[in-house]
Amino acid sequence: MSIENLPPVIRHWIGGELVDSADGRTFPVADPMTNTPYAKAAAGGPADVERAVAAARSAFPAWSSLGNRERATVLNRIADAVETRHERLASIESYDTGLPITQARGQARRAAENFRYFADVIVALGEEAFRQGDEQFSYVVRRPVGVAGLITPWNTPFMLESWKLAPALASGCTLVLKPAEWTPLSASLWPEIFAEAGVPDGVVNIVHGLGEEAGQALVDHPDVPLISFTGSTDTGRHIIRSSAQHLKTTSMELGGKSPAVVFADADLEAALDSVVFGVFSLNGERCTAGSRVLVERPAYEEFTRRLAERADAVRVGPPSDPATEVGALVHPEHYERVLNYVEIGRKEARLVAGGTRPAHLADGNYLQPTVFADVPRDARIFQEEIFGPVVAVAPFDDESEAVELANATQFGLAAYIWTSNLKRGHRIAHAVESGMIWINSHNVRDLRTPFGGVKASGVGREGGAHSIDFYTESKIVHVALGDVHTPRFGAAS
Ligand code: NAD
Repeated sequence: MSIENLPPVIRHWIGGELVDSADGRTFPVADPMTNTPYAKAAAGGPADVERAVAAARSAFPAWSSLGNRERATVLNRIADAVETRHERLASIESYDTGLPITQARGQARRAAENFRYFADVIVALGEEAFRQGDEQFSYVVRRPVGVAGLITPWNTPFMLESWKLAPALASGCTLVLKPAEWTPLSASLWPEIFAEAGVPDGVVNIVHGLGEEAGQALVDHPDVPLISFTGSTDTGRHIIRSSAQHLKTTSMELGGKSPAVVFADADLEAALDSVVFGVFSLNGERCTAGSRVLVERPAYEEFTRRLAERADAVRVGPPSDPATEVGALVHPEHYERVLNYVEIGRKEARLVAGGTRPAHLADGNYLQPTVFADVPRDARIFQEEIFGPVVAVAPFDDESEAVELANATQFGLAAYIWTSNLKRGHRIAHAVESGMIWINSHNVRDLRTPFGGVKASGVGREGGAHSIDFYTESKIVHVALGDVHTPRFGAAS
């Protein structure tokens, strides 16, 4: 597959200009179908981050003092500009990440929705006020924190960038975005989108580059008081440590190993659809993937057999083919990592589907969806995030064992519960250690709801008012309305 009109060089965007790195360095970017470089991207470092932060700082006073309605108008124009590029966006995202084109289209739609949604949020946002009788009135002033640092991963990159850009801009922050180095292509559309929407120069700045260079420089910069990070748990830990130096506000959306708990009384057909889609869509490179499937013993053999049959039937193919359900994994290094887990799994459990490259795809990072059954809880494929189309299945005997197994990893991002007993569904939802739970439902999310995890899956919540809270600081103002009697030192008691 080839794609037309790709930029030969993906540049930073600083102060409204496309620029090379200060030291001229670049790194190659390849597509995951052939692993052949198709472009070079500017490799940013401290000097580029310095320029970008300076541009964001000088754009801050004007942008932050716009009224909420004015900013909302700009956000809606950004959504328009994303929508008019919908097909282009989906095709370059699919080309760069290996995501099936049909799923990349959904992600592009979601990116536009994020801007419309946060435009509505700030228009609807009221101020908090408190009155103490006739004596005192107190009100909260919310101010944007300043220059926000946004650091994003390579899975659904454009959508995840929009998920941070929209609330940061809505809140009145200016920002520096550091996109993931494996997938910088879709971010190269932001400059024309923001320019078309009338976003003033310097409000948004994009510095490409490696995590330990460009990303680290952003985390270390003293004039960036806030870091919004989505990525792996290890990097998240490292960023929290680095951010401590300047006591930065951080939000951490990290890895997962989410359980899908299936009781024998569930609608097994619906559970099967959800489990298959939940772990194999987006190539399994989904933070909320239900990558551990726990099945009540009476349904275990049948469910596992049918899951294996479904996995065998998944259409793995070129991402550009509309019939493809699982495309190419993002990068050869990641592909090797996932294959290594498959080899580990062969020793730890019973392989019942996949485990190999599909015979019709000789090149590229392709893997047939893979199912391991009878996976013990201490197995690495039960405990560690694989982030590919690989699922671990295990049986349980009763409700308490289901909860124990669901909670038996370091992660706590999402959980899916399948049962026709709703009381039990709620009981388990309350007992499972995770930030987001779906009962008899797959990963459908209302943008108003909090998004985030517990334990090693993250710190903080994004979504709705949670995002606005994160990108703003609250200041409380107390004012006397009448006579407030201040205790006077020295007066007789
Ligand atoms: P990663 O942690 O390797 O990289 C994420 C980003 O951090 C990249 O832009 C990278 O360049 C940057 N980075 C790396 N080292 C850095 C450093 N020292 N300082 C600053 N920035 C640095 O993650 P990844 O492999 O790109 O993404 C996959 C991970 O993201 C998975 O664990 C997945 O679960 C997680 N994820 C979580 C969510 C969520 O919402 N919880 C969503 C999507 C992905």
